[in-house]
Amino acid sequence: MFVVMSASATEAEVLGVKSHILAEGMTPYDHAGADRVVIAVVGDVGPHRDHLMHRLGALPGVETITPISRPFKLTSREFHPEDTTIPVLDAVVGDGSLTVMAGPCSVESRDQLFQAADAVADAGATILRGGAFKPRTSPYAFQGLGVEALRYLAEARDRTGLPVITEVMEPNQVDIVAEYADILQIGTRNMQNYSLLTAVGRVARPVMLKRGYGATVEEWLMAAEYIVSSGNPNVILCERGIRTFETYTRNTMDLAAVPLLHHLTHLPVIVDPSHAAGRRDLVLPLARAAAAVGADGIIVETHPQPEQALSDGPQQIPTSEFAEFAAAVTAIVEVMGKHVG
Ligand code: PEP
Ligand code: MN
Repeated sequence: MFVVMSASATEAEVLGVKSHILAEGMTPYDHAGADRVVIAVVGDVGPHRDHLMHRLGALPGVETITPISRPFKLTSREFHPEDTTIPVLDAVVGDGSLTVMAGPCSVESRDQLFQAADAVADAGATILRGGAFKPRTSPYAFQGLGVEALRYLAEARDRTGLPVITEVMEPNQVDIVAEYADILQIGTRNMQNYSLLTAVGRVARPVMLKRGYGATVEEWLMAAEYIVSSGNPNVILCERGIRTFETYTRNTMDLAAVPLLHHLTHLPVIVDPSHAAGRRDLVLPLARAAAAVGADGIIVETHPQPEQALSDGPQQIPTSEFAEFAAAVTAIVEVMGKHVG
């Protein structure tokens, strides 16, 4: 439930409500909106609902108590009506611009990463991607360069000025990845790894949470709720395709999720057409569709020599073609009255 304070409520009244919630064994999360404070009551509210509504409703400064039927609270638009905007170095995700994240699937060498980084920076991309720890379906496939790759990513950031995003796969990697990266990525296979979600909820880095390939929108928002309720409000959602009966594409890109999420949540939503399609010829049309449907950004794989890539070669755009790709996406972004940034 949410406690909606009156517009004239004092700080002491807000504190009074919060301490009451704590005394009842629940956790209060307050959000200062444009003209009033709303306090979410988080915990196992169910059995105590009537009692809590009665007690909290009688406190000074309280205007109304709104029971919320949806299971996600802190990530919901009802609690936090304004869009969340997430600053990352000089960029801002969710401010109405289209964030373009791009780079290789895996960091394979300093040289490979720098070639990709230079190409995406020259094409006006916002954020550099590159996998250091790779979740591979086969244990025999390239698993990533690990910490060596994190160092190359940090060097590439110094070289281009672009913030960097990379995946973290385990709770015990969170500190080291957060030391080098500007955004932590949670991959599709880990969307419901609750100890990992809690761990990234405790660091001062934005998190990009990819949708589990078999997850509903509600399960995805509940996963985001783990991160936000652990203390990290800066979560970016990434639609990367879900598994369906279709086999011509690697996954089925759920574009309806973008406007749906904009309705349900205040968190920014970006789209990954590379992992959705699994083939490079579909990446541009899907990226343009993502921009047209109002996504806050896209994340795209690009490699200097995709045919030699150690992972996801068939879906990576050659870096030599990346500028042309970015220009074709920008044309749609401009039609939408937005800019890349
Ligand atoms: C990736 O972005 O490198 C990746 C592994 O994606 P996903 O988790 O969506 O498969
Ligand atoms: Mn990949």
